[in-house]
Amino acid sequence: MTKNLFIAVCLLLLPAISANAQKREYAMVVHGGAGNLSATENDPVRAPLLYAAMDSALLIGENILAGGGEAEKAVMAVICYLENNPLFNAGKGATVTAEGAFELDAALMLGKDLSAGAVAGVKSVKNPILAAYAVMTQSPHVMLSGTGADHFAAEQGLETVDNAYFATPRTLEWIEQLKRESGKNGTVGCVALDKHGDLAAGTSTGGMLRKRWGRIGDAPVIGAGTYADNQSCAVSCTGHGEYFIRHAVAFNLCARYKYLHESVAQAAEHIIHHELNADEGNGGLIALDKDGNIAMPFNSVGMIRASLYKEKTAPASVRQVGIGKALK
Ligand code: ASP
Repeated sequence: MTKNLFIAVCLLLLPAISANAQKREYAMVVHGGAGNLSATENDPVRAPLLYAAMDSALLIGENILAGGGEAEKAVMAVICYLENNPLFNAGKGATVTAEGAFELDAALMLGKDLSAGAVAGVKSVKNPILAAYAVMTQSPHVMLSGTGADHFAAEQGLETVDNAYFATPRTLEWIEQLKRESGKNGTVGCVALDKHGDLAAGTSTGGMLRKRWGRIGDAPVIGAGTYADNQSCAVSCTGHGEYFIRHAVAFNLCARYKYLHESVAQAAEHIIHHELNADEGNGGLIALDKDGNIAMPFNSVGMIRASLYKEKTAPASVRQVGIGKALK
């Protein structure tokens, strides 16, 4: 190749090369649970409330990320907001066990050093995601469960509540409705990529409606419902937890990205639509790769979800919110 031809080829390739190299400044994805949400999507009262809650979640997270805050701070702030919001099956508004009690699961993981914390079956810590963070930062462990986890959270000075706090008149009414319309879930999760290039993932849930007491789902199981690794992706799942545990969904996605060199969208699609299926492993996931690319597939009727990303050169972020197949 002559020198001039070489330069011409380089000039032709330049736009493609720089487009590939452009890493997004920050990005975030949030979910509010997957399930048979067709009635919810068309409900004139509930749908606007859910859209508004997802918009608020994006605002809370973006304020942190745009200001240079860390991904885990954004994830925790968003999940705390959703845990305190009775619209979702996490924190206040959580679903009940078959015995009528509230047992909550949550996990948080950081991509920069693979540090992780989780709580399972807690009954009195107001914000389980903060207890997961405390396990990660204040104990040598990754997961604490049941009474031991509640004691630990109280020792750490986290706010505790009576188990009945998690119920609301509205949730009890919805639980009655859920019993008639099977397959609805409302777990919450958030994944974020900050300006420093660090990923974080968090998930919080009341679990499956009428679960047996003591049952632990995928959300607090690192690698199943929650995973983050700066070399690949951050993932948070929602759906029938037993299947997500068997398929190690969150780690599986990161492994496909890392070892098979699939895109985050390809890896996510494969797992949700081929490994799990609508009859068995019903649900979905949100994922972000280390460059801020987003995937949020589901094999259920719907998944409450919201995403944002900010390109380095763009003046503002791009946001999307959805409940059913269409995004707004
Ligand atoms: N995955 C959660 C669990 O199995 C439930 C959900 O996402 O709705 O506990």
